[in-house]
Amino acid sequence: MSTTLHNSSTQEVVAELLRRPAFVMVSHVKPDGDTLGAGLALGIALKRMGKRVAYFQQDPVPRNLRFLPDAQFVSREIPGDFPPDTLFVFCDMSDPARAGEFLPTFTRENALDIDHHLGNLHFGAFNYVIDSECSTGTCVVRLLREMGVQIDQEIATCLLTTIMTDTGGFMHSNTTPEVLELSADLMRRGADKELITQEIFGNKRLAAMKLLGEVLAVATFTHDGRYAYSHVDDAMFARTGADGEDTEDMVNTLLYIEGVEVASLFKAYDGEIRVSLRSTGRVNVQAAAKRLGGGGHFRASGLTHVGDLPSAISAVHDALVAEGL
Ligand code: AMP
Ligand code: MN
Ligand code: MN
Repeated sequence: MSTTLHNSSTQEVVAELLRRPAFVMVSHVKPDGDTLGAGLALGIALKRMGKRVAYFQQDPVPRNLRFLPDAQFVSREIPGDFPPDTLFVFCDMSDPARAGEFLPTFTRENALDIDHHLGNLHFGAFNYVIDSECSTGTCVVRLLREMGVQIDQEIATCLLTTIMTDTGGFMHSNTTPEVLELSADLMRRGADKELITQEIFGNKRLAAMKLLGEVLAVATFTHDGRYAYSHVDDAMFARTGADGEDTEDMVNTLLYIEGVEVASLFKAYDGEIRVSLRSTGRVNVQAAAKRLGGGGHFRASGLTHVGDLPSAISAVHDALVAEGL
C-alpha cells in the first residue's frame, strides 16, 4: 500500500509549479541517476515554459551521469537574483538533510518534496511522495502529464535514466508492466536506451573492476551464506586507483552471489562510514537502516554510521537480525 499521508494532489502540485516563477531543483549527496534525472527532467520542462531554473547538487556530477541533458548547469551555487518565492524542489530524498550542508536555507513554504522512499518525512509545504513508483522520475511523469508538457527527447532521456537506474536496468522487482510500457513510450519519444545502458552500466573503469576484486576477496559470509558483507577503504582506493564513484553499485554484486539474501557494503572513506544494504526480498533492509538512522526502500537502503568499522559491522548485523536475518 502506498503512502499518501499528507500528500498533495497532482493538481495542487501542478498549480504550484505553474504559479512560481523560479525553481531550484535539489538532488541528494552521492547523486544517482534518479535524483539527478528527475530534477533535470522537470527543470527542462519548466524552462521550456519560460521559468527560471537552477540545479543545486552539493557533489559534482558523477562521471557516468555527465551525458544527461543540462548536466553542465548543475552546481553548488544558486544565482543570487532568484526571487524570494523560488520553489526548492527536492528530488528522491526522504529528508532534506540528504541534500548536504551546502544547501542554502529554505523555508517549508518554499519546499516541494518529490520522492518514492518509504518513511519520507513530508518536510515540504507540498509533498508528492508515491512509494509505489519505481523512481522519483516516474513521479515527475505524473506531473508532466497533468501539466500537458510535451515529453521531448531530452526529457525522455532523463526520465528513462531514472527508471533504468532505480530498476537496475529493468532487473529489480519494481519493474512492473506499467514501467516497461512507460519505458517503451519514452524510447519512442527519443530516449536513447543504448546510450544510457552504456554510460551507466557499461562504462566501468578498470580501476573499479580491480576494486571490486578486492571487495570480493575480503567479503565475509555468515548465516549459512545468506548474509554477505564487505568494505571499501582508502588503502583499497590507493592500491587500485579507484574512487568513491566506482563503489556505486558494488553492493549489488555481493547480493548476486548464490545463496545471498542480504548484502552490506561498508564504505569507510572520507572520514565516515556509509553503509549500503540490499535484500532479495525476505528481509526489510529499509527497516534495518531506519533502526540506525538511515532509510531507503524494502530491498535497497543506506545509512551513515558514527564510529569505527567493527562497530558499524556489528550494529548493522544486529539491526538485520532484528529484522529477521
Ligand atoms: P545506496 O546504497 O547509497 O545506493 O542507497 C540505497 C537507498 O538507501 C537509496 O534509496 C538511498 O536514498 C537510501 N539511503 C542511502 N543512504 C541513506 C541515508 N543515510 N539516509 C537515508 N536513506 C539513505
Ligand atoms: Mn537516489
Ligand atoms: Mn530513487
